[in-house]
Amino acid sequence: MTDADELRRRTRELLAAHPPADTERLDFLRARFDAGLAWVHFPEGLGGLGLPRSLQVVVDAELTAAGAPDNDPRRIGIGLGMAAPTILQYGTEEQKARFLRPLWTGEEVWCQLFSEPGAGSDLAALGTRAVREGDDWVVNGQKVWTSSAHVARWAILIARTDPDVPKHRGITYFVCDMTDPGVEVRPLRQITGEAEFNEVFLTDVRIPDSRRLGEVGDGWRVAQTTLNNERVAIGGRRLPREGGMIGPVAGTWRERPDLRTHDLHQRLMKLWVEAEVARLTGERLSQQLVAGQPGPEGAGMKLAFARLNQEISGLEVELRGEEGLLYDDWTMRRPELVDFTGRDAGYRYLRSKGNSIEGGTSEVLLNIVAERVLGLPAEPRTDKDVAWKDLAR
Ligand SMILES: Cc1cc2nc3c(=O)[nH]c(=O)nc-3n(C[C@H](O)[C@H](O)[C@H](O)COP(=O)(O)OP(=O)(O)OC[C@H]3O[C@@H](n4cnc5c(N)ncnc54)[C@H](O)[C@@H]3O)c2cc1C
Repeated sequence: MTDADELRRRTRELLAAHPPADTERLDFLRARFDAGLAWVHFPEGLGGLGLPRSLQVVVDAELTAAGAPDNDPRRIGIGLGMAAPTILQYGTEEQKARFLRPLWTGEEVWCQLFSEPGAGSDLAALGTRAVREGDDWVVNGQKVWTSSAHVARWAILIARTDPDVPKHRGITYFVCDMTDPGVEVRPLRQITGEAEFNEVFLTDVRIPDSRRLGEVGDGWRVAQTTLNNERVAIGGRRLPREGGMIGPVAGTWRERPDLRTHDLHQRLMKLWVEAEVARLTGERLSQQLVAGQPGPEGAGMKLAFARLNQEISGLEVELRGEEGLLYDDWTMRRPELVDFTGRDAGYRYLRSKGNSIEGGTSEVLLNIVAERVLGLPAEPRTDKDVAWKDLAR
């Protein structure tokens, strides 16, 4: 029996024991995790079976055909796409056992406490301090642009534990409980009118050392796993044809012949082809992932995704003419999930502006591609050997 046959057998066994029509959603998801069918490339006992990632499609196809519920990946994207691979690579056995199951089922939402007012592109300059006190670390500082902090139970957090060494070397990676005293979340309203992200103030927050991920001072290396996965999670998702931003505009084009002009037709066709090329490249990237962790190549996908989203949503506004300038709702919502292609044309246009900033700006990703993919000379860095505390701020 091949691995695929065995997976089909196990999936049918799960469906027989927990028929989706008669099973609570959460019970089904927990049973799926325990059967090793959540993410088959994860180890046994942690939602997987240690099989190649490429075999996940076998399970997914069976479950979709049977009408089984999914774990709503859009709602828990930071957990699935960023926290989970980092916990898997650097977590202790206790941490993996505690965090991965409720992360995957969506019972616990995760957010990412990385960026600070003075440290975005230059993330390694961050100033949030963590000081060891007995078995705890006491954390003080401010984070910003934290998506989903208002619904998150846990955060991946990087903080400075040694200001006396160069900036990349004195950082440590933690898991922060967002319900702990001293964690204050304040909404930040963005161009769409929504507040999907937040400022997070950390005042004397006590994090037990048992919630440290990786070695003390090794947080920059641990964070690379998160960041490489983030770019793939944002830019390299598998999509059906017309599944991304091109879908709504192609739909409008078909349904509204009154809006068509020759010039718009030429531009739409060009963008349609580029979107399809990007989609197929994303497909190839996800197949490469079967062989291991994503490297800096994900930066290229994220770059293409941001540029295309902005150009396509701009074309849609133009295509719709005056209608395209209308906006459905300026109420300050606090969304639980972000859907770049959701709502109307105006929302898509405004929300896509953030695509070239979140997960690393396009300028910074171009530097990464130049240096780490193409092997071009690195930019001069004058702060490499200077202690963080002596850097100009
Ligand atoms: C919608 C959205 C959601 C986000 N969610 C999160 C989150 O959940 N958690 C989190 O931690 N962060 C989050 N961020 C923050 C994001 O990662 C940062 O905004 C981003 O890394 C840029 O940092 P900055 O805003 O400090 O800009 P800066 O780093 O100050 O950059 C300003 C400008 O300078 C350019 N620049 C900077 N350095 C260079 C360089 N070396 N070469 C060329 N150009 C350069 C940049 O490209 C940019 O145009 C989010 C951002 C957005 C927009």
